[in-house]
Amino acid sequence: MAKLWVTEMAKRVADRCLQIFGGYGYCTDYLISRFYVDARIQTIYAGTSEVMKMIISRGLDM
Ligand SMILES: Cc1cc2nc3c(=O)[nH]c(=O)nc-3n(C[C@H](O)[C@H](O)[C@H](O)COP(=O)(O)OP(=O)(O)OC[C@H]3O[C@@H](n4cnc5c(N)ncnc54)[C@H](O)[C@@H]3O)c2cc1C
Repeated sequence: MAKLWVTEMAKRVADRCLQIFGGYGYCTDYLISRFYVDARIQTIYAGTSEVMKMIISRGLDM
């Protein structure tokens, strides 16, 4: 549950921070683009968010 919540939140936060930078946020010259990429992968490796939801639902007997 923590992995799902924290990584999805990190993804949202990084996305909003990148938005503040506008087009510069997309450029690799700016560190925010790296933060975005690093946040984005968190919901994929070590179990995707979809897989996390399946594991959680099994734990809830759903
Ligand atoms: C930088 C990096 C480092 C990694 N390091 C390691 C490592 O050290 N050790 C290791 O073992 N692996 C590692 N991986 C692999 C990583 O764990 C897998 O990428 C991850 O488990 C997702 O598998 P996949 O990429 O094959 O995507 P897929 O399994 O093909 O999934 C693709 C999409 O389909 C969704 N999906 C798949 N099945 C279902 C389903 N039944 N229901 C709903 N949605 C579904 C997924 O959630 C995802 O959104 C690493 C990956 C990366 C990118």
